Amino acid sequence: MHPFTFEAHIPRTIFGQGTLKQVGEEVKRLGSRRVLLITQDNERQLALAHKVRDIIGADNVAGICADAVMHTPEEVTTKALAYAKSVNADGVVSLGGGSTVGLAKALAVRTGWPHVAVPTTYAGSEATTVLGETVNGLKTTRSDPKILPNTIVYDVDLTLGMPAFLTFPSGINALAHYVEALYSPALNPIIEGVALSGTTEMYSALIKLKDAPTDVDARAEALGGAFAAGVCLAHVGMGLHHKLCHTLGGSFGLPHAETHTVVLPHAMGYNYSAAKGAMQKIERAIGTSEKAPQAFWDFEKKLGTPTSLKELGLKKEDLAKAADLASKAQYPNPAPLDREKLLTLLENAWEGNPPA
Ligand code: NAD
Repeated sequence: MHPFTFEAHIPRTIFGQGTLKQVGEEVKRLGSRRVLLITQDNERQLALAHKVRDIIGADNVAGICADAVMHTPEEVTTKALAYAKSVNADGVVSLGGGSTVGLAKALAVRTGWPHVAVPTTYAGSEATTVLGETVNGLKTTRSDPKILPNTIVYDVDLTLGMPAFLTFPSGINALAHYVEALYSPALNPIIEGVALSGTTEMYSALIKLKDAPTDVDARAEALGGAFAAGVCLAHVGMGLHHKLCHTLGGSFGLPHAETHTVVLPHAMGYNYSAAKGAMQKIERAIGTSEKAPQAFWDFEKKLGTPTSLKELGLKKEDLAKAADLASKAQYPNPAPLDREKLLTLLENAWEGNPPA
């Protein structure tokens, strides 16, 4: 018998094509009169913010904050909060990937303002109660239902032009949420069902997107898969893989989705024997006769994603510090955490070797 406690926390979610035009109604529904639009400082994200300002109506938009960056550094939040208060904002709308959603979550949880999230990657943060923040180079996470956005608006159109170098690492970021959910001690039958069917769907969607990046159905499967993966991440604790990625991202500035992509096969290899039942279910879900870690590594080679921490810019001399940090924190993981074994894992991931 596997005992569990389960309490669902899932925001109101609107999913479809052309749904961006519903953002104004959602903002109104939540009672905000002067929302701050949160995004990133690049042409694509700023154009999206201007479009949404027109949809909501300029009178109901307090301003645009394009300061979101990865790993939610505290100083960025402090500056954005001061700006939000100076323009009398009373709500936030996030328009972008996990970095943008992260900054909006940080503002919403500090102020109690409503948050409408419009995600444009497969990170899944919008569906989680988790907020990771970086203070003095150390990323820590906290979980609270108050961190969840009030509404998520998924518009598949916003993902049609996502380039391959973002699509595949971001899709594998979603697969990592499924994988770690499947061997979490907090797993329950609902999350297991979602994670297994989601693994099959996300895996096949990414294969389709390799040849047909603007296939609307494949994009919808991938975006729906990202939502469900976020729900899994929110409802069971994450293990070694997510901890390593937080360490590498927060303390060494590595890019989030790419780091997940490189580390995942190695973290699966580390946990393979201790989580054999889950791994065999993953093998069935993706239809492989290989061991799951090797199958994921081959899959990533086929998709053309990065496969080494070296190419992401990590210095070899930082591996020992990363192993220290990842073995210091305590968190549930199928295989016991051993600093020397973690260092070997990181060395293999750094070199771009296949998983052990
Ligand atoms: P990101 O939000 O930094 O986006 C990466 C890049 O892609 C940016 O330059 C962005 O402008 C661009 N971009 C976004 N959408 C695009 C699109 N549709 N087409 C083209 N370009 C697009 O990266 P991310 O991987 O989405 O998110 C990473 C951050 O999210 C990290 O800080 C991570 O910690 C956090 N995260 C948090 C959770 C959680 O539950 N708290 C879950 C996953 C990720």
